[in-house]
Amino acid sequence: MKAKCDNCGKTFSASELVPLEQTPNLSERVDPDGEIPVGECPDCGALVYAQASPAPRSWNELGRARRAHNDNYRAFGIRR
Ligand SMILES: [Zn+2]
Repeated sequence: MKAKCDNCGKTFSASELVPLEQTPNLSERVDPDGEIPVGECPDCGALVYAQASPAPRSWNELGRARRAHNDNYRAFGIRR
């Protein structure tokens, strides 16, 4: 899957993007009723949306991923 950054115009594969569960302040940066971004641009930090196919994850799945990610941080004693 390729995704294009609307901000800087570069195209990335999914594995090159910063994963959503590692994106800070995501809930403040997206419309809850809108399209779910596929990740964050590693170059400019803008949210990147899928080009053709719908976003692969539901908000519920994203919430679980974010909680798991935060649990990993806590396991290593890292505070954010
Ligand atoms: Zn960008």
